[in-house]
Parts: sequence; C-alpha cells; structure tokens
Amino acid sequence: MRVVTNSAEETTVFGKKIAEQLQSGDLLLLKGDLGAGKTTFVQGIAEGLSATKNPTSPSFTIMQEYDFPEGIFRHLDLYRLDDPTLDTETLGLPELLTDETAITAVEWPERLKQMWERKGRTIEVIFHYGVGASAREIEALGLDNN
Ligand code: ADP
Ligand code: MG
Repeated sequence: MRVVTNSAEETTVFGKKIAEQLQSGDLLLLKGDLGAGKTTFVQGIAEGLSATKNPTSPSFTIMQEYDFPEGIFRHLDLYRLDDPTLDTETLGLPELLTDETAITAVEWPERLKQMWERKGRTIEVIFHYGVGASAREIEALGLDNN
C-alpha cells in the first residue's frame, strides 16, 4: 500500500489506518531519512490502537512501551545503536524483537547487525520526501492486502 501525505496530520491518519490491520507478533521496520515522518507515523499507530504510554519501560533510552486493550505496543528507535556503550544484549533486543505477544515498530532497523528468527509478520514501511516541504511518500509492504 502506498500513499502520499501532505502534512504530519495526514501521516498520523495513515498510521491509524495501518493500526487497524496489525496483529500480535507483527514487526514494523520503518525506513527513511531523519524527518521523513517515522515517529509521526508511530504516533498514529499508538492512537489507532488506543494505546497509552507505560512509564516503567526498562530500556527507556531506546524504547517506549505502550499498553493497548489487546496487548503491548513497543516503539524502538535504534538510531543510536552504533554508540559502543549501547549493547544489543544488554538492551534486551533479542527478546524484544522476537516477542510474539507484542506489536513492535522499529525506527532505524538498518542499525541492527543481525535479525533474530521470528514467527510473526515483518512489515516494511518506507518513507521518502516528496515534492514540497510537507509531502511524504509512504509505502507499506508485507500486509496481507498489498
Ligand atoms: P522521523 O522520525 O522520520 O525522523 P518525525 O516524524 O520525527 O520524523 O518528523 C517529521 C517532521 O516533518 C515533523 O516535524 C513533521 O511536522 C514534519 N512533517 C511535514 N510534513 C509531514 C508529513 N507529510 N508527514 C510527516 N511529517 C511531516
Ligand atoms: Mg524518529
């Protein structure tokens, strides 16, 4: 599914729409440059899931955890994963990224040196700047009804 949005609000709305199709075990890999709208999209997903932030996240430096009526939604931003003080195992990434009971959205998945085997769907969402300061092209791959 591919859309062009013309404001942050429209990207949030697209996130809400995608949220309707998500299920436990889904892993969303969000790819695109800084400012392309990945975090804005995640806010739409959280809204769509009626999710509320869980303040007790253990890996708070890279992760925000949310509760929603059917489970847990996790938002990871791995931009700083190249920092040598951040260790993949210590951060709990193997467990977090293979948790089949949660919905997980990851910004900067390119920072991962490996991916662990998992059963759930992998949904790739690619963000590009469009023509004009507020235009973004967003493509979601891996949902059943592409
Ligand atoms: P990223 O997480 O990819 O770095 P953010 O979502 O944090 O990006 O930031 C996107 C920035 O671009 C915000 O300042 C937002 O207001 C602005 N923006 C302008 N147009 C759009 C759009 N169509 N979709 C998403 N964000 C937009
Ligand atoms: Mg971001």
